[in-house]
Parts: sequence; C-alpha cells; structure tokens
Amino acid sequence: MAGPEEKSAEVSLPPGLRAVTAGNASPMTGPGTTTYVLGKGSVAVIDPGPDDPRHLRAILAALAPGESVAAILVTHPHLDHSALAPQLRQATGAQVLGFGPPGSGHSPLMRRLAKAGLTGGGEGVDPGFAPDRCLSEGETVDGPGWSLRVLHTPGHMAEHLCFAWGRMLFTGDLVMGWAPSLVSPPDGDMGAYLASLSRIAQQDWQMLLPTHGPPVTDPARRIAELTAHRKGREAQVLKALDRGATTLPEIVAVVYHDLSPALQPAAARNALAHLIDLAERNLVVAEPAPLPAARFRPRRPAP
Ligand SMILES: [Zn+2]
Repeated sequence: MAGPEEKSAEVSLPPGLRAVTAGNASPMTGPGTTTYVLGKGSVAVIDPGPDDPRHLRAILAALAPGESVAAILVTHPHLDHSALAPQLRQATGAQVLGFGPPGSGHSPLMRRLAKAGLTGGGEGVDPGFAPDRCLSEGETVDGPGWSLRVLHTPGHMAEHLCFAWGRMLFTGDLVMGWAPSLVSPPDGDMGAYLASLSRIAQQDWQMLLPTHGPPVTDPARRIAELTAHRKGREAQVLKALDRGATTLPEIVAVVYHDLSPALQPAAARNALAHLIDLAERNLVVAEPAPLPAARFRPRRPAP
C-alpha cells in the first residue's frame, strides 16, 4: 500500500523448500501468491493460493514422483491464500489446517464494531473456509524432516497465523516482501497488527518467507521499516485531524494524496484502522463510534 518497494533480486530458497507462484499478480497481491512446499517425500504445503486450476496443476507438478502431501497449512482465510485448499485436499487427501473460519478470531472490540454495523471493505475474505483441524498458538505440526511451530499473529486478519521453521518464519501477509499489508477492520486490527510485528521482532530470524514477494533476508530491518511506516501514517492521521479534517474521506485525501487511484480504497481501510486504534487508545474522539461515517477529532488534553 505504500508505494513501490519492489525488490527484483532473486533470493534463493533454503534447502528443503520449494515455491510455486500463482498467476494472480495485481496491485494488491504484488507478484502473486507464493505457495510453499516444505520437506521431501511427505511435504507440507503452506498457503495453497487462489482457486485456479492452473495453480493446482503447478503445485501437483512441483511434487516429485511418489511424493505425498502430509498437511495443507493456511496462514489466513483470504481467497488468494485459502481458496484452493478444498481442491488440493481432494487431489492429495491431506488435511487442511488453519486458525478457523473467518471471524472466529475477532477481538471483543472488533465484535462490538461489527455489531454496530462495521463491515469489511471487500478484500477477498474466503467465507467458506473451514479447516479440518484448527491450529492454536504454540502447537507444532510435524512431518518427516520438518517441524512447524504455530504463532497466532492477528492484525492483517484476526485469524492470521505464522509458521516458524527453525529460524525461518512463514509470514503470510503479516510481513510481505514488496509492500506493507492491508489492515481492514473488523477483520483487520491495527493495534493487533503492530503487536504482532513487535512480537516477531523479538526473535532473531534468519529469513522471513512471505506469501507475496521475495524472501526477506534482513528480517529485523524489514520489521522495523514496516513498524516505522505505520507509526508514520499514524502521525500523519493525527496531523490531518489537527488541521481540521474530520471525516474519513477528508483524512484519506490528506494522508494518501500521492497514492495511485487503484490503491485508494485500500488506503481508506488502513486509515480507518488507524482511527479505530487511536480512538481505542483515547487519542482520538469518534462520534458516534469509530465507524466509516463518524466524525473524528483529536482528543485535547484537559485544561
Ligand atoms: Zn491477506
């Protein structure tokens, strides 16, 4: 969402890992969904990708003769990550593992806002996603020669998981290789997103493996960069409010004035996510509630 940060250099994958990129490149998916195939003989597939028969064929073609799929792991139920899961399950017999159906991880705040009428921005939630087995924080999924530890990392989506493979981390859409992620309430939550970034920043990762864009070989720098980007946007939102913007469209026009039209709707969702987070932290007043049609103003310290 924040302008071009594409990296063209080829980064080679660690031994034991294969990648198959789907043909769904777009302003929101960058170079397209990368499906990872981990292990040898009996493999894990991470983020099967969009419902596209060509991509299904490409994943199956990436398997060696006699190789089988032990598990299909889904970082979160967005269509470009999870939609192919039922077809891949059918083709391989493997179980689909993920946090749960969309909405199952909503925080009390997001449940309250959803009840008050807040709906998503049409960012491709997979309404039918239903894992065969729900994963939770801290558990491991093992196969011959590989082991994945589950990290619950809400923010881009409440049901978002990352998978740690030794000092490598499959980051789904928490950290993308080419641009900052969309955070669109009520599925997305800016406070949770920043907390998840801060959490993964505490570990010394060797490499991050995003579902969009190339592997990140300097994890600490990339995580710091994404955190700083969000903090910068937050400061811009507060400044826009200080200068008299009161509605979401007014705030977006100020903060994202240089963004291409194709990305403006997503930018408005990110701005709303910041405003909800700021209201929750008592830095902004939203009347009648932090919803897209609200009027926003900075909370002035008491005289
Ligand atoms: Zn996503």
